[in-house]
Amino acid sequence: MQTFELLESEVRYYCRDFPTVFTRATGCKLYDEGGREYLDFFSGAGTLNYGHNNPRLKRRLIDYLESDSVTHSLDMATAVKREFLERFDSLILAPRGLRYKIQFCGPTGTNAVEAALKLARKVTGRQTVVFFMNAYHGLSLGALAVTGNASKRAGAGVPLHYGMPMPYDGDLGPGVDTLDYFEAFLQNPGGGMELPAAVIVETIQAEGGVKVASREWLRRLADLTRRHGIVLIVDDIQVGCGRTGSFFSFEEAGLRPDIVCLSKAIGGYGLPMALVLIRPDLDVWQPGEHTGTFRGNNLAFAAASEALTYWEDGAFAESISKKSELLRRLLNELVGRHEEAGGWVRGRGLIQGLGFDAPGLAEEVARAAFERGLIIETSGARSEVVKLLPPLTIAEEELEDGVARIAGSLEAALGKLEAGRAAVNPG
Ligand code: PMP
Repeated sequence: MQTFELLESEVRYYCRDFPTVFTRATGCKLYDEGGREYLDFFSGAGTLNYGHNNPRLKRRLIDYLESDSVTHSLDMATAVKREFLERFDSLILAPRGLRYKIQFCGPTGTNAVEAALKLARKVTGRQTVVFFMNAYHGLSLGALAVTGNASKRAGAGVPLHYGMPMPYDGDLGPGVDTLDYFEAFLQNPGGGMELPAAVIVETIQAEGGVKVASREWLRRLADLTRRHGIVLIVDDIQVGCGRTGSFFSFEEAGLRPDIVCLSKAIGGYGLPMALVLIRPDLDVWQPGEHTGTFRGNNLAFAAASEALTYWEDGAFAESISKKSELLRRLLNELVGRHEEAGGWVRGRGLIQGLGFDAPGLAEEVARAAFERGLIIETSGARSEVVKLLPPLTIAEEELEDGVARIAGSLEAALGKLEAGRAAVNPG
């Protein structure tokens, strides 16, 4: 790791949690320089939904490269971009009765969020965007202004304006519908809230601790935004592209957002790509008004087009649903076996969170997991949730193997915590 410590900026992050040098990867496995194998329950934070070096996608990419097809093209028309647009429309949008114009923005999630916010402000002529406690939408200034995390916000160095936080579903305890609170501001002429341009929401707050909004809450939010003429933006960057079992995470709630942000897994192979899906009448951009150099990653279009074959019939969604039931069962059994840990499970599809109230326990579990050859991250405002994000193509035995490693890690972490307590209170 010496080269990285010497030459790479202090801002480096994940390499600190997973301190080894990786060389190869296939499916759910990563390998390091020493030949050690790791099971990947992180998947590039939800980018590698189809696994590392998926052979179908790889074949398409090799053929594409070997035929000297265009790699970079700004946003010029290319054959593979047309193929992607047509397949995305016919395999994803049309079968769901969705009609969107597709904007190619810069290739990261935060680029998609910036574009969505800018467009919502342009369409409405208003400035404020409502976001939710513990939201994560990216770290460029516009996206950061609608992100909750205090330490990330502090990094901005300038005031972050025009974002208005509201409590997410469940944030005010059971039995409180937090949208009553939001709606009270909107309805009361003395409420002091200017009508927002947009609401941006994650159906599951992945970075925020795998918090799942209920179907009813999401539907009410959609209804509320429609009645007040507020643009509804769903950020499906981490939990879209099949993570929850359906292609879009909002399908289960029957939502039809005005704008959808996609990135991470849409490129299929881990190649950078991001999209903003826009309700056609809101597509008021002037040509080139929001442009950028890297909006024509043709390799990503090739891999993404191929990845969409997973959605040609219902088999893939069905397999995700089956695997998520298994994962849920295994985690609930684990929590049941270790009542002393006070753990809980929440999530949907193949994003599941294993949370602990004891400070530091989730982080200790993730650390111990790395020692056991499992790559896994924590999430939540206090890093209180171990976030399981395996590739969607994972085999059932690999899921079982991963949860067994988490069980071993939890036992080790509990032992360590106990030893720490005994040292503080001897006797
Ligand atoms: N939105 C969500 C929901 C995310 O999970 C992320 C990344 N974790 C982003 C936006 C930002 O994406 P990127 O890191 O590619 O800018």
